[in-house]
Amino acid sequence: MTDSTPRIGILGADGRMGRAVEAACEGRFDVAARITLANPDYESLSACDVVIDFSAASALVAALAYLKPGTALVSGTTGLSDTQEAVVSDAASRLPLLRSGNFSVGIAVLSALARQATATLGVGWDIEILEMHHRHKVDAPSGTALMLGDACAKGRDVSLATVAVQDRDGPRRDGDIGFAVLRGGGVYGNHEVRIVSESEMITLGHQALNRDVFAHGALSAADWLIGRAPGLYTMNDLIKT
Ligand code: NAP
Repeated sequence: MTDSTPRIGILGADGRMGRAVEAACEGRFDVAARITLANPDYESLSACDVVIDFSAASALVAALAYLKPGTALVSGTTGLSDTQEAVVSDAASRLPLLRSGNFSVGIAVLSALARQATATLGVGWDIEILEMHHRHKVDAPSGTALMLGDACAKGRDVSLATVAVQDRDGPRRDGDIGFAVLRGGGVYGNHEVRIVSESEMITLGHQALNRDVFAHGALSAADWLIGRAPGLYTMNDLIKT
């Protein structure tokens, strides 16, 4: 490590993703702060150039107050309430903040393909999104499934909130974007977008084969984000540059 090695803080350092991020920091980042539920030393984040967050919505919101203006924040935590979403978005006025429900490049490409497919196919095709994750996952549908739903809705020029069906209990309506959620075992993250007409079905899918794909993606985002102007960034901004 040298004096110019970026100092990183890991929020949720003892979690599955936090541990993967810490291992991936070796030789690239100086781990200057480790925030865990047992040791929530948020003050230590003020010494960091960048903070990576894979924790819980409440931890993310609590940490914001301790970040110096200009500290880069890469956040992958999902399952925020609307109020928490608003608080985090507000922080982008003083911090360069990159958020993503999924840090894999493959999902970024899948999302672009889903948007293109739904824009091309138009009405008459039904959209259903399937996801499966490990048995410990808290939120449902996954942040990635919602991101893919949003891409499909944008392809149709509608708002996801007006067409999303997360708990189906009755017949399908035209224009619905349905979500199906499976939980079990140690699955890192499987996602499928199915686009179905009366006579054919297109399936666009992605499987994460390990957890490192998210950790390395988040660290690439951290490298890219340090020194940028305050604002809300996405993986698409990173991929475009
Ligand atoms: P996890 O194993 O449960 O890790 C979360 C960690 O945060 C746990 O160690 C938890 O401690 C800790 N924590 C909870 N509240 C805290 C607080 N107030 N202060 C400090 N630490 C706190 O979950 P994970 O699988 O790593 O996932 C974490 C988050 O990242 C989830 O929202 C998940 O959906 C998301 N995720 C995103 C991506 C992506 O690419 N964007 C990929 C994978 C996961 P305890 O265990 O003691 O409760």
